[in-house]
Amino acid sequence: MSRPQTPPEPTARDVASHDLAIHDLAVLGGGASGMVAAIAAARRGRKVLLLEKSRSLGRKLLASGGERCNLGNTLSKDEYMERFGRQGRFMGPALDLLGQEKLREFFHGIGVKTVVLDGFRVWPETRKSTTVLAGLVDEMKRLGVAVAVNCTVERTSHDGELFVVEHPGGSFRARELVVATGGLALPKSGASGGGYAFAESFGHSITPRFPAGVPLVTAEDWPAGCTAHTIGKAHVQVAIKKHAKIQGTGDLIFTNDGIRGPVVLDMSREISALLDKHGEVPLWLNLCRGRNQEDWRQTFKQWARGEPVPLIERLGEHLPREVAEALCAIAGIDPTTGIHQLEGAARDALILVLDKTPLTVTGTTGYDRAFVTRGGVKLKEVRSETLESKLQPGLYLCGEVLDLDGPCGGFNLQWAFASGFLAGQTLGSEATARG
Ligand SMILES: Cc1cc2nc3c(=O)[nH]c(=O)nc-3n(C[C@H](O)[C@H](O)[C@H](O)COP(=O)(O)OP(=O)(O)OC[C@H]3O[C@@H](n4cnc5c(N)ncnc54)[C@H](O)[C@@H]3O)c2cc1C
Repeated sequence: MSRPQTPPEPTARDVASHDLAIHDLAVLGGGASGMVAAIAAARRGRKVLLLEKSRSLGRKLLASGGERCNLGNTLSKDEYMERFGRQGRFMGPALDLLGQEKLREFFHGIGVKTVVLDGFRVWPETRKSTTVLAGLVDEMKRLGVAVAVNCTVERTSHDGELFVVEHPGGSFRARELVVATGGLALPKSGASGGGYAFAESFGHSITPRFPAGVPLVTAEDWPAGCTAHTIGKAHVQVAIKKHAKIQGTGDLIFTNDGIRGPVVLDMSREISALLDKHGEVPLWLNLCRGRNQEDWRQTFKQWARGEPVPLIERLGEHLPREVAEALCAIAGIDPTTGIHQLEGAARDALILVLDKTPLTVTGTTGYDRAFVTRGGVKLKEVRSETLESKLQPGLYLCGEVLDLDGPCGGFNLQWAFASGFLAGQTLGSEATARG
């Protein structure tokens, strides 16, 4: 059965009408993690109210994966956690509950079939994020989750007995609270970072936040002359000795003010934090599929024995012409120099630049163009087994608001769904256990 392309708009109920009732659970944020938390809790019979500041639910979900929604991947639990860095193990309990296979089963169960086309990325079968959103919205409707859109939560507190949630039209009380307000990336989707203040109001610490999964701005302007080209299997390495392990290989694209492409977006998570510390971050690029200095020496010897053509003709066999010209300029060499005339120090300088092209990152293009936020609510203050706050019983946090960010490839949505599910699945039972 095919799903409608545009998800049905959830009814914007008058929030004030909810104010009189005491809710089992208020979920703040109608994104990926909040909707799944609401579903998991409602399936267990909880009376749930979900509040979303935007005029519709799941706006970032809709934008995800070029509006096709790469909702997960097929990595094993351990490989998946490793890609989040040393904090990754925090995700273990959530992945035990909704790892990649169970996530696909979950979506299948709400009428969203999924496919894996490249052996790695999981997509909805329709390749449309609207299908994913429609599945989640329909399931919430089926379960009777009360939804209020256009409702910005302004403050949260606890009166000793219940949570108090304040919004422009008034306030209401709830036994438990899920903060699923996401991060700062893509502000037009509703991301505003409000959830950090809610967490802080209960005593939580917030780690420094940076745009991640984001194009980088460089001091050099030569990338602007190369925007027509994608360099496959480019190797990028941070040229700071202490941080030289920050490196990666993949497609790299030049932009008018720097670089982007999968390898750049993935490394930007760490470079963004380094920028804060160092002001600028030097990189070395290898744009010739890993050819090293010795490879180039042999190649130059071979060229010297061949036709006496200009250097740029030969370099053009390995690099787009504009990129080759830029690299010659860095090495201080005229690209029209005859290949037989290129010797000694000049040739060595060019070989060095071909092996390690220097580029200096001076900034990122900011949250407007970022996929995810690095940093967030400190993990040490949250129980990984339940996602309940260690500081405020009954408070749960899930999704991007927590200090976890993954690379591109379905990592961040999978975490948003899995963490939402864990929070929705365990709340209430925890409260019962606490008595
Ligand atoms: C362009 C783009 C493409 C992406 N593509 C992918 C992809 O293909 N695969 C992948 O895995 N990840 C992708 N990501 C990342 C992924 O979408 C996010 O990590 C994920 O959606 C986070 O889910 P969340 O529920 O934590 O937050 P969000 O989806 O951001 O939801 C939080 C919600 O809370 C609401 N909110 C905030 N403050 C308040 C408040 N005070 N009161 C009420 N509501 C509030 C917001 O409006 C928002 O709707 C992409 C991100 C972007 C920006």
